Amino acid sequence: MGSALIVVVGVVLAIAGAILYVQSGRQIQQDARTEYDLGERSRMPPELATATLIVSERNLGATVAGSRIAVRPDQVYRTREGRVVTVETKTRTRVSTYQSDVIEMSLQALAMEDLYPGQVAPYGYVRVIIRRQGGGTAPPKYVRVNLMSRDKIEALYWRYQGIVDGSIQPTCNPSRAACARCSHRAVCPAAFL
Ligand code: SF4
Repeated sequence: MGSALIVVVGVVLAIAGAILYVQSGRQIQQDARTEYDLGERSRMPPELATATLIVSERNLGATVAGSRIAVRPDQVYRTREGRVVTVETKTRTRVSTYQSDVIEMSLQALAMEDLYPGQVAPYGYVRVIIRRQGGGTAPPKYVRVNLMSRDKIEALYWRYQGIVDGSIQPTCNPSRAACARCSHRAVCPAAFL
């Protein structure tokens, strides 16, 4: 009887220890998240600093000219005023944004429009993380960019389809910065080298 009681007490203590271990792990995770969130919020534009995170790295789809295009916003916030604002993180060597950011975020905004009709902001923020030369990164900077309208995105889509099927001739309007990041650079006769 006595040994049975010892076994029962041992099992109860083991379970209690496991529960405490899991709870303390969760608390540490929660503290880390809170610390991160407080630090991050202090660097955000005012409207984001007080906003609520509503989407984080979620696979969504934007409908463009009847086709479904997969998007995955890094973060989307709802501001106190009720605007739905997209945020996309990029790691770069300087604080800069590109047309490709705008196109990517415009597609994300179209996907959010399906979920929050009439509430999506016509702008978003590129959260630029600067890679330091000696290693590591600097705190992020939020750069506001104006997004493209649905009409402009659809025009871009049809142009792309036309170039792919040969009905539209591509034109060249290169920039040194665009060429430097372009995957066609090695074979493109118009590339800035
Ligand atoms: S390398 Fe060619 S395709 Fe790429 S951005 Fe430059 S001009 Fe355009």
